Amino acid sequence: MKIKIAKNAGFCFGVKRAMQMASDELDDKSTKVYSLGPLIHNKQAVSKYEEKGLKVVEAISEIPADERVIIRSHGVGENIYNEAHSKSIKIVDTTCPFVKKIHEIVNDFYKKGYKIIIIGNKNHPEVIGINGWCDDSAVVIKTIDEIDQIDFDENQKYCVVSQTTVDVDDYEKITLKLASVLKDATIKNTICSATKERQLSAKSLAKEVDCMIVIGGKHSSNTQKLVNICKEVTNTFAIETKDELDKEELKKYRLVGITAGASTPDWIISDVIEFLESI
Ligand code: SF4
Repeated sequence: MKIKIAKNAGFCFGVKRAMQMASDELDDKSTKVYSLGPLIHNKQAVSKYEEKGLKVVEAISEIPADERVIIRSHGVGENIYNEAHSKSIKIVDTTCPFVKKIHEIVNDFYKKGYKIIIIGNKNHPEVIGINGWCDDSAVVIKTIDEIDQIDFDENQKYCVVSQTTVDVDDYEKITLKLASVLKDATIKNTICSATKERQLSAKSLAKEVDCMIVIGGKHSSNTQKLVNICKEVTNTFAIETKDELDKEELKKYRLVGITAGASTPDWIISDVIEFLESI
């Protein structure tokens, strides 16, 4: 069996940076370290950090004063910073710089009187965080059809941003329609290229190989998107760890491709490669 790994697979820049910052904080044992929600959508990686002392909480109210809190790469709204400051909780801010940039755009335009429109999933933590920089007043649009249901004010200026992981084709369709219905709209493309790069390299590798293995959390939306892309091209196995692989089934394939979601750590990918090499 031959193994090929997609050109862009595993941790993206923002997640790698966040995980390194969190690891450095855990090495410092002076105070306890909490994270607001799981650091990433990968339960194996989160467990490793919990073993090192990380405590995952859902709200600042659960953290005692003077301890440390890690803000995830997804980012959070302004109110979370204020709440932490009021309790003298030290913030370890691992918000991805690309997401931080969206916060700045939204806050700036909101203060200038613009209504904010976010293209994305209203329940995704990144979108909730972005909305928190305009007092939760944004209109969130996920599909092009939703535009017809919105009552736009023709005297209002609008600023449009997007969740970093939105599909480029969807983004283009939605912004084209928004530009035609809004009189005054400033549209900022805030999609991060990491997602698209992972999708393109997964698709091109899937075309070359006999089967694909996609490694990543079952709740990671970018991993599931990779699974769907690969499934359209070839036989695809979606796994979280090597333990889900079926040795007998894999013996049928000569050339196996591997890709992994943006929140899959290198050590999980290496485990899978090692397992395949043993077949
Ligand atoms: S996908 Fe892009 S925006 Fe999101 S954390 Fe990774 S690098 Fe940052």
